[in-house]
Amino acid sequence: MGMARVLKDPELRRRGALARALGRFRQMLPGALVYRRRPCGKSSCRCRLGKEHWHGGYQLVVPRKGSYSRTYHVPREQVEEIRSRLAERQELEAKVREILEINLRRWLKGKQQD
Ligand SMILES: [Zn+2]
Repeated sequence: MGMARVLKDPELRRRGALARALGRFRQMLPGALVYRRRPCGKSSCRCRLGKEHWHGGYQLVVPRKGSYSRTYHVPREQVEEIRSRLAERQELEAKVREILEINLRRWLKGKQQD
């Protein structure tokens, strides 16, 4: 297929841009960030006084295939970084979905040789 043809077809241009963008997502992480409050269990701690004194913290919850999720503590200073690395994964998946839609549409139109 000639380059001129690709440039003329907006769908192929879009697919090329999407495919090239996939290489950017190297730092993505799986799972979701959740904020949880809980007591620490120490007898001397004020969190024993009631829910309003519980400790809050962020966790990364990573689902596992056919099993319970795994939960990891996220230090407060890493929360923003983790948040953007999780967003990277969403962005990548949106691009992959769009490529899949383009390819399905083209295949259905009999253009699968592209
Ligand atoms: Zn405590």
